Amino acid sequence: MSYKIDSLLIHGGIDGDETTGAVNIPVYQTSTYKQDGLGKDRGWEYSRTGNPTRAALEKLIADLEEGTYGLAFASGLAAIDTVLSLFSSGDKLVVSDNIYGGTFRILDNVFKNFGITYKIVDTSDLEAVEAAIDDSVKAVYIETPANPLLTITDIEAVSRAAHAKGKLVIVDNTFLTPYLQRPLTLGADIVIHSGTKYLGGHSDTISGFVVVKDKALADRLYYLQNAIGGVLAPWDSFLMIRGIKTLGVRMDRHVANAGKIARWLSESGYVSKVYYPGLESDPGYQIQKKQASGAGAMISFVLDEKYDYKKFFESLSLVTLAESLGGVESLVCHPASMTHAAIPAEIRKEVGIVDELIRLSVGIEDADDIIEDLEKAIRLSLKV
Ligand SMILES: *Cc1c(COP(=O)(O)O)cnc(C)c1O
Repeated sequence: MSYKIDSLLIHGGIDGDETTGAVNIPVYQTSTYKQDGLGKDRGWEYSRTGNPTRAALEKLIADLEEGTYGLAFASGLAAIDTVLSLFSSGDKLVVSDNIYGGTFRILDNVFKNFGITYKIVDTSDLEAVEAAIDDSVKAVYIETPANPLLTITDIEAVSRAAHAKGKLVIVDNTFLTPYLQRPLTLGADIVIHSGTKYLGGHSDTISGFVVVKDKALADRLYYLQNAIGGVLAPWDSFLMIRGIKTLGVRMDRHVANAGKIARWLSESGYVSKVYYPGLESDPGYQIQKKQASGAGAMISFVLDEKYDYKKFFESLSLVTLAESLGGVESLVCHPASMTHAAIPAEIRKEVGIVDELIRLSVGIEDADDIIEDLEKAIRLSLKV
């Protein structure tokens, strides 16, 4: 029987423990496994290569993304590191122009040293993507909604354009999760996640995922996962399974709160710009609506120049100034000095990551309490 996503979140992957009937997958806290004789293992050899708790989670994320093979890593960046290790010196990637700062950092300061280069393109512009794909390009790497300006890229159109030239399409699906968007069903080849965010959902575990459909690609990725070794620990795998069970109810509330707050912000007069693909006025609204079942809960906005953004951060009570996103609690950050500080100032300015830009990860508290806290902090930050 094939379950819908709300049931898969709870019963997908490996549902319960065969041996004992425990409804939850146990934490197999072991590094190695007894072999009954030379060459006679019971399917498990060493926990970098495979661990039953991690395997249950890997099957679960594959089910949720409608993929075939899932891999779990110690962080989102460990997942990205493994995916980028598919490439060789001389290869080039076309990359979305506003991406997670850490993704930019590993491309610019690590893989570039190995001769793997990148070209930054506004991937919401299909013609620009097509023009950027030359012979040296091996893959198009996109985030949609992108970080931190929530730019929307048409996954289906980019996949068609990239595949016409024999290139891979990689999508970082952290901001929407498979509950709202499943890139493999839209033509992407590889899905990446920082599980640290909505999938875990409680700001207590660092993790990452890769999901694919193709067997040959999966074999190469499993080889790299074992060779590089950035795997997710058994206990953290357990925490991720536990977090994912409530993803649906959390995302419903996150999205409802975000819609209300985005509308309030855009009508408030306090801000000069609101970036949220769930607003009809947003340039990505139509494509977002076509390819996902909700706009997520990340909002970015530019405070009007009447207000002092440094003072704003210090005047919040309920909403917390912190790195990260996707947890049950509302968080704000300052992309220019925090998440995107690794991006050189000129590039930041060019793409619109100005100093007054504030990124809000809308939590699942009462939406009116969040609005009240934002309004209080904005008023207190009025320049004298
Ligand atoms: C956080 C994040 C990452 C990196 O994940 P870690 O778990 O912090 O290593 C990658 N992509 C996006 C979109 C993120 O938000």
